[in-house]
Amino acid sequence: MDLFIPSRVFFEPGALEYPLGRQLYDLMESKGIPIRITPSHNRVLGIPGDTPQIAYREAKRTLVVGVKKTLKLNTCRPSADYEFALGTSCPGGCQYCYLATTLGRKPYIRIYVNVDEILAAVEAYIEKHHPDITHFEAASTSDPLAVEHLTGSLQKTIAFFGRQEYGRLRVVTKFANVDGLLELNHRGHTKFRFSINSAFAINTFEAKTPSLTERLGAAGKMAAAGYPLGFIIAPLFLYEDWQADYRQLLEDLAAWIQPHQPSSLSFELISHRFTARAKKIILERFPQTKLKMEEGSRKLKWGKYGYGKYVYPPDQLETLKNWFTQEINRLFPKAEIEYFT
Ligand code: SF4
Repeated sequence: MDLFIPSRVFFEPGALEYPLGRQLYDLMESKGIPIRITPSHNRVLGIPGDTPQIAYREAKRTLVVGVKKTLKLNTCRPSADYEFALGTSCPGGCQYCYLATTLGRKPYIRIYVNVDEILAAVEAYIEKHHPDITHFEAASTSDPLAVEHLTGSLQKTIAFFGRQEYGRLRVVTKFANVDGLLELNHRGHTKFRFSINSAFAINTFEAKTPSLTERLGAAGKMAAAGYPLGFIIAPLFLYEDWQADYRQLLEDLAAWIQPHQPSSLSFELISHRFTARAKKIILERFPQTKLKMEEGSRKLKWGKYGYGKYVYPPDQLETLKNWFTQEINRLFPKAEIEYFT
C-alpha cells in the first residue's frame, strides 16, 4: 500500500520554530503540496467539503502540523498506565473508527512537532512512579505508524524508551511501514501490537488500510527485530459466519507464527460498541454501511464520562469471550490474553 501523502497541509506558525516543522514545510513545498498557515491546530478553516461524505474524505487527505501545548497525560486503562499523543487521527478509512467520530466533522490528520517536549513530560511521569515500571500507550489518539515516513517521531520515541529503565511503550497499528524501526536499540521496551480482524471486517469496513498479509509481514519483521509483539483483534463483530471467519483468521495467524516465533505473544480482544453520536456520524458519512448498529439488540452501558455505549448483551459477550479464549488457548498455548472488553 502506498504511503500517505496529503493533498494539502496547514501549519501553525509555532510549528515552524521546531526542526521537524521546518523539515515538513520544506518537504511539502518541494512536492508542490498546497500549504496554508492556521492560527490554531485545533480550529482549522479551509478544508473543503459541504456534505458529511466529502468533508470526511477531504479531512482524511489533510495534514495539520502543530505544537502540543497540554502536556498533562491521561490514564489509559486497560492497555497502559498513561497515554500520550504524537498526533491525532490517521489516513485510514475504517467506518467504525472511534477516533473518526470523536474528532468532529473533519477528522484531519494532525501531527505534533514538539516531540522532545512530549517525551520530557513522559520522563517526568516515569520519575514520579520510579521504581515502579510505568507503561505508556502512544496510539490511543492516532495511528502514528501511518505518518512515520513523514515524521520519524516513532523512531525517536522508541529510542527514548530504549534508554528508560522504568518506562515501557506500547504502540498499536494497522499500518506496515516498519522498516525504519528495525535497527533501533529498543531493548525490548516497546511492544508493538498489530490490529487485525476477519477478512469480512477488513474488506467491508477498513478502507485505506494495509491488507492482513501486509500487517502480518510487518509483524514478522518486528518479531525478527526482537520487539515484544501482540495482536489486537478489534472490533469483534457478531455476524452470521463470525466463527468460521475468526477461526480462519486465527489459523492464518498460527501458520504465520511457526516461522517467526516471536519472543512473546499477547492478545487484546475488544468487542464492537457504538455511541448514539457515533452512529449518527457514521450513517451520515457512510449511508450504505453494513455496520450493524441497532440499539434494540445491544445493551446500553454508561461510561465514566457520562455517555452511553451500546455493547453486545451479556450472553453474547460471554459467547464471544469463551470462544476466543478457547481458540487462542488451543492455537497459541503460550500466548497471554491481556483482556477482553
Ligand atoms: Fe481509525 Fe485505526 Fe482505522 Fe485509522 S487505522 S481509521 S485510527 S481504526
